[in-house]
Amino acid sequence: MNIMLFGAPGAGKGTQAKFLIEKYDIPQISTGDILRAAIKAGTVMGLEAKKFMDEGKLVPDSTIIGIIKDRLTEKDCTDGFILDGFPRTIPQAEALEKLMKGMKISLDRVISLNVPDDLIVDRITGRRVCPKCGASFHVEFNSPKVTDICDYCGGTLIIRKDDTAETVVNRLASYHAQTAPLFDFYSDRGIMVEVDGTKNVLEVKEDIFKILG
Ligand code: AMP
Repeated sequence: MNIMLFGAPGAGKGTQAKFLIEKYDIPQISTGDILRAAIKAGTVMGLEAKKFMDEGKLVPDSTIIGIIKDRLTEKDCTDGFILDGFPRTIPQAEALEKLMKGMKISLDRVISLNVPDDLIVDRITGRRVCPKCGASFHVEFNSPKVTDICDYCGGTLIIRKDDTAETVVNRLASYHAQTAPLFDFYSDRGIMVEVDGTKNVLEVKEDIFKILG
């Protein structure tokens, strides 16, 4: 099964991806996680991307498409994958379509996690993430079992550098200008489904599981 999770930053894509990994045993492909790993490793691509990420802007399409081309051809993607945070622009979506066509595969479902902008700031400023496995938590709405420790891998949770009230403004602006048009792109292809992302984490998970069967 090839799934894409769609929604604003902080809508819960990463959190729900973790549940889908467990249920379907397919990998999560988060371009954000891949970029953060590249920054940590100090690669040229990572250092270039960092400038955009720190400002809450999108990294150029050519960089992102290159990352995805490499990642989708890895062996663990054979039985499917969960796209999280990609595509984020129409050119990225078109490149993905072309790439998947060449691989004789297609996206089965795009799940839109709908959360209004006024809730996003609280979601993002209360977010804590695991730098080891990429899991996301929230201090109030989805707290880890042990404060600041990842439920999945025991890593010490951190606050992402771009999870500030100031950066959220830019990230939401990029989302509305460049990413939101993908809603119509995938609706036109008949694979878009909407989920109320304001419900609690486990309710959203159940709604997604019902859709995917
Ligand atoms: P995320 O972890 O998905 O919130 O992504 C963090 C940041 O990485 C974003 O604010 C962008 O700067 C960059 N990024 C991640 N995925 C993409 C993408 N598909 N296209 C452009 N920039 C991206």
